[in-house]
Amino acid sequence: MSDFDETFDWVVVGSGAGSMSSALVMRRAGKSVLVLEKAATVGGTTAKSGGVMWIPGNRFMAAEGDPDSAEAAITYLEAVCADGPEFPGTSHDRRLAYVAEAPKMVDFLMGEGIALERGSRFWPDYYDELPGGCKTSRTVVAKPFDKKQLGAWEARLQPGFLSVPARLDDGMKLPFAHKSWKIRWIFAKIAVAVVLGKLTGKHWVTAGAALQGRMLQAALKAGVDVRTGAGVQDLIVANGAVAGVVIEKDGKPWRIGARLGVLVNAGGFAQNQAMRDRYMPGTQAAWSNTIPSDTGDLFPVLERAGGVLAQMDQMVGYQTTRMPGFDQAFVKPPGQGLTGKPHAILVDQSGVRYMNEGGSYELYCQTMLERNKTVAAVPSWAIFDAQFAGEYAVGGVKMGKKTQGWADAGYLKQADTLTGLAGEIGVDPAALEATVARWNAIVDKGVDEDFGRGARAYDQWLGDPYKAGNPALGRIDKAPYYAVEIVPGDVSTYGGVVTDVHARVLDKQGAPIGGLYACGVASASVFGGVYPGAGASVGPSMTFGYVAAKHAAGVGNSL
Ligand SMILES: Cc1cc2nc3c(=O)[nH]c(=O)nc-3n(C[C@H](O)[C@H](O)[C@H](O)COP(=O)(O)OP(=O)(O)OC[C@H]3O[C@@H](n4cnc5c(N)ncnc54)[C@H](O)[C@@H]3O)c2cc1C
Repeated sequence: MSDFDETFDWVVVGSGAGSMSSALVMRRAGKSVLVLEKAATVGGTTAKSGGVMWIPGNRFMAAEGDPDSAEAAITYLEAVCADGPEFPGTSHDRRLAYVAEAPKMVDFLMGEGIALERGSRFWPDYYDELPGGCKTSRTVVAKPFDKKQLGAWEARLQPGFLSVPARLDDGMKLPFAHKSWKIRWIFAKIAVAVVLGKLTGKHWVTAGAALQGRMLQAALKAGVDVRTGAGVQDLIVANGAVAGVVIEKDGKPWRIGARLGVLVNAGGFAQNQAMRDRYMPGTQAAWSNTIPSDTGDLFPVLERAGGVLAQMDQMVGYQTTRMPGFDQAFVKPPGQGLTGKPHAILVDQSGVRYMNEGGSYELYCQTMLERNKTVAAVPSWAIFDAQFAGEYAVGGVKMGKKTQGWADAGYLKQADTLTGLAGEIGVDPAALEATVARWNAIVDKGVDEDFGRGARAYDQWLGDPYKAGNPALGRIDKAPYYAVEIVPGDVSTYGGVVTDVHARVLDKQGAPIGGLYACGVASASVFGGVYPGAGASVGPSMTFGYVAAKHAAGVGNSL
């Protein structure tokens, strides 16, 4: 291997979720590891994320007397995932591998000192009504983390969106604080923890930054070599197998050998508009919540090495509303808690309702894009009334004095009648009135016979648990009436190279390419075109990083 400038056993491209789970396995097996990160910070979009992992059969469920089983999980995945040539990333065997390995990965990380806990007791699967669907929660998250513990590395952790000593689950209860003493008590405790943290010099982060901060801490402690500003430009292929990577150092190519293999965990292409135009036309990088370095550099490289790209038209859509300041927002104003709440619906540009506004954000955006093929639906309109405005938030902001400028900026449309509102948004008044009348009839009946909103535990979770009757339903009948635009934003792309049960990258013939592994959204999702529950991106990335390293190190099931 004299051809290389330096050599490691295991080289990881990108510091996403699976990078450090793989690195920890390799270090436990006594192997040398290098993680190369293009950005100036470590942790990827994973660190910016909620950090939720969808882990069926995890140890926390059993400990809380809410046991899950691999059988239930696989039954659910079989019901929810579509097989076929369009979705080669998913298969019965890959789903089985996920269900078997994900809880082991959690146990392994706990053994490495990563403090994890159940994400929530109530965060149902997104299709919980299907066989094997979970109506409680299969989520696992990291405990809040004091990133000061990273020392000099603190400044090199990708920032997250919640820098308080609070669980994400509790943070999501904030909008209901005025309705529950229990929630006010939770926030009082968080406020005390914030003050204590300040007094004792803690730098708390939670959600994805806590997960990746803890992973980075463990990786550094285990002796993993982590380098930032080290973008991989190419793979080195020798005798049909991947033998290393090329980065640039001091303006020259720097060749790094990888004895056991290379794991690509370099994220997706959400920030690459040219790739979006090619694979998912009609979507925009400007609507994405991913970090700027999510530019898909490795996809052409993986293809040159023989990998096959698939499911490239899939994204983890996340409905978004383009309120003033949208362009600069660290996290784009969310639309999920808008049309999923009572007294609000979504209509296309002809004024017609066309989906269940509850449920998975991924399906929501997919449905918008599908609708847009026949009726203009990008953007669509969230329609809501004074009852909604009094109770809930628009893009995470409660309406009030602060939001008066929205109308002046042309963002918030409002009128005293539905006919007037239709005029404001350029929709046929008769169509909008008919849609709202139909919606009100649905609410009165308590059953959405058109799209099934509110029938699932998840839709109800998304609604208002403190509202009488169905938590997801509420009439739209109190003036003034309002409308804001909703676009199909995203939190990630979801397609990439096809991999097998060991996370090995497969070629056109379906044979593994020696020395080449991939995980996370650099690979075609193990769930095909479906997002089965909260954490269905970070969970598989962590798991298949762990699986890849076990395979490459030849440690079988000992870890
Ligand atoms: C606000 C928000 C909330 C979310 N919440 C959740 C959630 O709770 N649960 C969930 O499952 N999903 C969530 N998602 C989606 C999820 O974060 C992503 O799908 C996931 O993090 C992708 O992880 P990954 O391991 O594939 O890689 P990433 O975390 O995207 O990391 C890839 C890394 O590779 C680096 N890289 C790129 N090119 C190169 C190169 N050439 N050389 C070296 N490095 C390179 C990138 O800079 C990046 O750091 C959320 C996303 C956002 C934005």
